[in-house]
Amino acid sequence: MRPMHPGSRPPRARILVVEDEERLRALLRLYLERAGYEVREAADGRAALDAFDDDPPDLLVVDLMLPKLQGEALISAIREDSQVPILIASAKRSDLERIAGLRLGADDYLPKPFNVHELVERVNAILRRTGTASSGRLAGVVGAAGVGWPADAGRLSFANGRLVIEPATRAFTCDGQPGRLTPSEARLLFALVRAAGSPLDRDQLLPAVAGPRAETSRNIDVHVGNLRRKLSDDAAAPWAIETIPDVGYRWLAPMDRTLPDPRAARPGDGDAAAPGDASHPAQR
Ligand code: CA
Repeated sequence: MRPMHPGSRPPRARILVVEDEERLRALLRLYLERAGYEVREAADGRAALDAFDDDPPDLLVVDLMLPKLQGEALISAIREDSQVPILIASAKRSDLERIAGLRLGADDYLPKPFNVHELVERVNAILRRTGTASSGRLAGVVGAAGVGWPADAGRLSFANGRLVIEPATRAFTCDGQPGRLTPSEARLLFALVRAAGSPLDRDQLLPAVAGPRAETSRNIDVHVGNLRRKLSDDAAAPWAIETIPDVGYRWLAPMDRTLPDPRAARPGDGDAAAPGDASHPAQR
């Protein structure tokens, strides 16, 4: 099934294509523009970082083997202060290298050689799910049911305030320590929360973190591992995510109905939802 739904054209998001092969870069620009996106190009990693700092795009397509600054270093630098969606499109395609790319915080990995139509579809899918466009227009435009991140929901609190998440920014505090979820981690967490108490298998979780034709369910384990580290969760004695052998994962931490601990408040955060706000999607 194609991920694009008739009549639901993606909003005009801005994409930075980082690719040193000129012909491929031009091809990606052509097809992404045809799909309605605004496209900028960078021919090496350094230029990409400059372009990103000057004017952050809504999504990056990143080749890994780049002059001046390798794709991995570029992604690490961007991830220091941004959770912009990143699609790696690169010839490194061993499982380990792909997993390494996802560990850096990329949202998806498309191995070269790829079909440019598939790349466009994955871009569409990531943007539908992440809802990270600066305008917020994408926030309600999610892909498959149950895998979207509720970017406009009120603050989410779990386990008596042990974990408090700001959906709009994906910032969180856990045990008093601040952090930030990547878009993939946020969607994965939310997919688990929506099914709280019931295990989900890797195939059910896959749409939350990868493209519609995702490569491997091992990606799920990597993302869950990243999530556990951020939440100081222990696979052997979990409080948040339990591993169900031969099945998948289950969310354990109960969602609080009360307003969370003010420790989680961030400066300028005056529009947090009130308790009882109707937008607590995990209560469904
Ligand atoms: Ca290259």
